Order: sequence, then structure tokens, then C-alpha cells
Amino acid sequence: MTAVPTNERCGARRPGWESGPPVGINRIPCVRETEHDGDHWNAWMQRWPNRELRTATGVTA
Ligand SMILES: [Zn+2]
Repeated sequence: MTAVPTNERCGARRPGWESGPPVGINRIPCVRETEHDGDHWNAWMQRWPNRELRTATGVTA
């Protein structure tokens, strides 16, 4: 797993777990880099779909 600096992380929360403090496995935000493609995942390797999938052409990961 690639470590991403905190200020460069996506930080998305799992749907339904956005509210409240980032405490508990289900509220841990995405640790992937900002602007990443594909699923979000957290430090526990829980994955969830990215609802803002970029389908624009010309974007390379
Ligand atoms: Zn993410």
C-alpha cells in the first residue's frame, strides 16, 4: 500500500457514515490520493464505490 500524505488524501467518507467524528472503522476516510480513480478505500482496505467517477476523456491515472 502506498502511503499518501494526509494533506493529499481524498478523505471521502463511506456513504451513510459521513456525519460524526471520524471514529470507528466505518467512518475512517479514504486514504487514497486526491483525484484518484476507482473505488475509495480506507486504511483497513475497506472499499466503497466512488460516486464521482470521472468519465472525461483525456484523464490519465
Ligand atoms: Zn477516495
